[in-house]
Amino acid sequence: MLKAYQYRLYPSKAQERKLDATRETCRRWYNDLLAERKTAYEERGETIGKYEQLRRVKDHKAASPWAKVVHSHVLQVVVSDLDQAFQAFFRRVKTGGVLGAKAGYPRFKGCNRFDSFGFKEYGNGFKLDGRRLRVSGIGRIAVRWHRQIEGTIKTLRLIRKASGWYACFTAEYEPTALPATGKDVGVDVGIASLLTTSDGDTTPKQGWYRREQAKLRILQRRVARRSKGGSNRRKAVVALQRQHEHIGNQRKDFLNKQSHRLIVQYDRIAVEDLKITNMVKNRHLAKSILDAGWGSFVARLHAKAEEAGRVVVEVNPAYTSKDCSGCGYRFEQLTLKDRWIDCPRCLLSLDRDHNAALNILKRGGQLRWNISSSMDGLFQEAAGL
Ligand SMILES: [Zn+2]
Repeated sequence: MLKAYQYRLYPSKAQERKLDATRETCRRWYNDLLAERKTAYEERGETIGKYEQLRRVKDHKAASPWAKVVHSHVLQVVVSDLDQAFQAFFRRVKTGGVLGAKAGYPRFKGCNRFDSFGFKEYGNGFKLDGRRLRVSGIGRIAVRWHRQIEGTIKTLRLIRKASGWYACFTAEYEPTALPATGKDVGVDVGIASLLTTSDGDTTPKQGWYRREQAKLRILQRRVARRSKGGSNRRKAVVALQRQHEHIGNQRKDFLNKQSHRLIVQYDRIAVEDLKITNMVKNRHLAKSILDAGWGSFVARLHAKAEEAGRVVVEVNPAYTSKDCSGCGYRFEQLTLKDRWIDCPRCLLSLDRDHNAALNILKRGGQLRWNISSSMDGLFQEAAGL
């Protein structure tokens, strides 16, 4: 199993110039490859694939003085990156786009739209050298090793962010399954509180999120007020990018903790399906931390579950709030203001989100905990509601 580790880099000025030069070479190479695919298709109706483009790396190195000094694996990874963009595009075309949006064709990358380049084999273009990271064509870069890498390092990606350069390693390791707890759980994304479990635990909305968002708006206004092309505007833009990055980190950290907690406590976890949740509920989640994070939260749950030998299923969220978890009675009149439900049929009296979490748990059980988020499974289940 692969795990990713990210570390802050402290390149010297000269190293930073080389990093930026490599990034620029890769960006141009990416745009070349994209143009090649595009014209081949538009003019001749031909499809150029990954392997054909990989064969071009050698010629490209021979032809371009810039590419000549870049490790061939780096150029190969660019080919793979573009291919992945195409694969994602084909997938979106097949599924009809995300939430009704049209599937976008891979785009040409402008100067600030190309953030990273990678190596695919440890010892071939990069390796650890004492406390430093030795990278072909760049040098020995200082690293802040804030945590230890477990397992064997496989790949490296160097990433440019607003706050500086980062190294992202993937390492292969043997996962250890967590001991079974004998407990299952359903998790509801609520309106009053962020997450509510079928055990009745709640995770309140996060105050810091709103505060950080407020700071973000101030920085956005500052950028808008400064005149274009000026150095003051450039500074304001950097401050804004850093705030975006900061919020992203905090959100990631928070969601990591939440998913970790669930994985440790429960054997099987049922959550709402993102694709449907968005349509049903997300209007009310505006400005909440899960607004942009729910997808990555569920992805993280899946990854951690696989690692720990747990099961995560995504269920259809329709009527999870409106149905009584005790007897199935439907509260047709329930509005967003109603925080509590009192069932006239089975006399169940419960917090609204807790009731929804119980319904989600029940649906997880109906899926027998073994259908992943396949749409077929969801529609079968929806039909049987
Ligand atoms: Zn009832």
